[in-house]
Amino acid sequence: MYSKKLFLFDFDGVIVDGMNEYWHSALLACEKYLNTSDISIDQNLYKQVSNTFIEMRPWVKYGWEMLIIVHEIIKKENPLNNNNKSDFLKKYHQNCEEILSDNSWDSTDLQKYLDKSRKYQIDKDFENWVNLHKPFSEVINFIERIKKEKIKTGIITTKGKLFAEKILEKLNIFPELIFGYESGTKIEIAGKLSHEYEIMGFIEDRKKTLIDIKQNIETKHIPCYLADWGYLKNTDRNYLPHEIKLLKLKNLEQLLAN
Ligand SMILES: [Mg+2]
Repeated sequence: MYSKKLFLFDFDGVIVDGMNEYWHSALLACEKYLNTSDISIDQNLYKQVSNTFIEMRPWVKYGWEMLIIVHEIIKKENPLNNNNKSDFLKKYHQNCEEILSDNSWDSTDLQKYLDKSRKYQIDKDFENWVNLHKPFSEVINFIERIKKEKIKTGIITTKGKLFAEKILEKLNIFPELIFGYESGTKIEIAGKLSHEYEIMGFIEDRKKTLIDIKQNIETKHIPCYLADWGYLKNTDRNYLPHEIKLLKLKNLEQLLAN
């Protein structure tokens, strides 16, 4: 039997709501590092997160995609908005790839720009940056509770590890394990961890990631929970495979009941 128990958490949309930060950092990255002739940045844009952006966030897997969405939203001509959003979403991945190739961009570079934008803000005014994130207090309490039960906390995120760490420190949360995009895919990480730990559950707000976990031979035994409070598409709650449970904030404590 395993002697070490572990709960796995996604970060964005599960531990914190970072919508203001995603918008702010992606916009700043567009302004400072992309700066194409297709866009002009009005400083008022920083004041309010675009509704189109909020509604598209559930489709985002990697941070660099947010630069593409923001760039499209603030384009001078034919911008992405609530009228053409659903067409874009029908072929979301294909559209992101096309925009990369049309602009001769590389996704790795865009991810670096996003990271640079975050570092810039941290150096300039850490408090201001960190306060753009709103923690889900029920999840923070749950992490504190499992610590008392001697269960370890692991966080697997597609953002840079450094940024997740800084936010968690501010929340006074010190997980035993944190993995950012630098560590590989969530499936690979969960697979490796499952050799060493009894994984009590993986709480994630991206349904496709949980489906992939359940379809992988190394990880399919991990109990998977779709975070109802996260960035979910309207259709995510429907046709949920029976082995993936929809989890509500108020039911977190029940995960310790068995
Ligand atoms: Mg998430």
